[in-house]
Amino acid sequence: HHKPVIAANWKLNHGPTDAKAFLQRFLAQAPKMNDRTLVFFPSAITVTTVVDGLRERPDIWVGVQNVHSEAQGAFTGENSVLMARDVGARVVLVGHSERRHVFGETDEMTTKKMALICQARLVPMLCVGETLEEREAGATASVVERQLTAGLAELDDSQAAGIMLAYEPVWAIGTGRTATPEDASAIHSVLRAALGSRLGEKAAAGVPILYGGSVNRGNAATLLSAADVDGLLVGGASLDADSWASIVRS
Ligand code: 13P
Repeated sequence: HHKPVIAANWKLNHGPTDAKAFLQRFLAQAPKMNDRTLVFFPSAITVTTVVDGLRERPDIWVGVQNVHSEAQGAFTGENSVLMARDVGARVVLVGHSERRHVFGETDEMTTKKMALICQARLVPMLCVGETLEEREAGATASVVERQLTAGLAELDDSQAAGIMLAYEPVWAIGTGRTATPEDASAIHSVLRAALGSRLGEKAAAGVPILYGGSVNRGNAATLLSAADVDGLLVGGASLDADSWASIVRS
């Protein structure tokens, strides 16, 4: 079984200056941990600073929050998976709810991005999750299954077995309204079963499924101990070094 994956999504916060101060304070209270994998997702502009700041800490991974669906070309303002790898990123978030709902990212785009990221030999972390409306309509399982199917559509089985998955209910993101551990477990087991029917049970068990949505230092340990929850993807509560240090020790 794999180690828990505890990931910080800084979203559009913490430029290089803030990131340096954050790492100094965080690393002072976070000795190397062999029993979990930590990941930072800074803004693309801040990735180099974070990679440099973690030179002594190969146990901590750095990722990017998004890449374009083409590797290069006339796409002003976008970031490339090849450049992400060049700069030292190892993971790429795909299909975060803010990409889907604020920037109009479609399932077709996540399909292309997932394939591109695997070809570049980086690890995609696919985010899935239902809106409040979809939840109330009883559509949660079908929505996350559809998003997962799109994410895996162009991957071969070994690529699909190498992804990370994050369940982030849209109604729980940045709202202070966390899913209960039972809610999270229920959807994680739906995702595990969907992975199992594509990849077989053994490979499905090896895919870490993270929960995200209003995780904080008070609820992190309980969520992490819920069945089928293999990690946490944390937004707001990852921005403060002390709060983040307490979450990674959960
Ligand atoms: P919050 O932890 O701020 O709710 O954000 C969750 C999230 O979107 C992480 O990707």
